[in-house]
Amino acid sequence: MRPLIGTSWKMNLTASEADAWFTAVLPLVAHLADRDLFVLPPFTDIWVARERLQGTVIGWGAQDVHPAEGGAHTGDISAPMLADLGCRYVEIGHSERRRDHGETPDLLTAKIAAVLRWGMRPLLCTGEPAPMDTDDAVRLLLADLDRCLAGIAPADLTRLVVAYEPWWAIGDGAVAAVPEQVGTIHRSLAAWLEDRANGQAVPVIYGGSVDLDIASRLLAEPGVDGLFVGRYALDPVNFARIAATPIGSAEEVR
Ligand code: PEP
Repeated sequence: MRPLIGTSWKMNLTASEADAWFTAVLPLVAHLADRDLFVLPPFTDIWVARERLQGTVIGWGAQDVHPAEGGAHTGDISAPMLADLGCRYVEIGHSERRRDHGETPDLLTAKIAAVLRWGMRPLLCTGEPAPMDTDDAVRLLLADLDRCLAGIAPADLTRLVVAYEPWWAIGDGAVAAVPEQVGTIHRSLAAWLEDRANGQAVPVIYGGSVDLDIASRLLAEPGVDGLFVGRYALDPVNFARIAATPIGSAEEVR
C-alpha cells in the first residue's frame, strides 16, 4: 500500500496564507512519487488548493461535510459542492467536531454515505478519549467503527481511509502515542476492516502530535499506513519534511 501523508489545517490560514503555504511546499515535495499526499484546508481556502495543486503530487479535500445534497442548512457545505471543487478526501468525525458539535455515529454514517455518493474518499477519524489499556482501546475503537460504518456497502469500504487519532494525543501540550502501541492498534483495526471489506485492505493512518522526531518511527510500524499531521504542519517546511520521511523497516529507521 502506498503511504498516505496529509494534514488538516483546522481553523487556520487565510486564503492568502494558504497560497504562500503552497508556494513553499510544492518545490519541496514535487519529487515524492512513491506516496500519496493531501491537505485539508478550511472551506474558505479550498478554491486556492484547487488552483495551486491541480496536476501536482498533493491532493486536497475538506474537514467536514453536511449529509444532505442541498437545501435549508445555513452555513453548511454539501458533498456536491466539495466534489465540484475537486476534493478527493473529506474528513469526518474528528474529535473536535464530535465534542464541539455533538456529532453522533449516526450522523457520521450519513456524512460518509454522502461523500461516497459523490465519488470522494471519506477519512473517518476514530480515537479513545483517554489513555487506556490497548485491548480496551481496540474494543472501543471497533465499536465506534461498527456504528459509523453501519449500512456502508463492503465494496465502498475500499474508498475509506481510517485515521486513528487518540483524543488525548491531539493538540497543544499533548504528546504522540507510543509507536509500538499505535502499530498494535492499527493492525487490529486493519484486520477488522479487511474482514468487513470482503478481503480488501483499508488504509489506517495515525494522527496526534506527529512531528519529525516520531514520524519515521510511526511509519516503520507495520500497520501504520500513513500520517495525519495537525499543528506541526502549519509550517510548510515541517510538512514537507514529514512528507519526505524515509519509508523503511523499524531496523532501518532506528
Ligand atoms: C488532529 O487534530 O487531527 C491532529 C493530528 O492534531 P495535532 O497533530 O496538532 O495533534
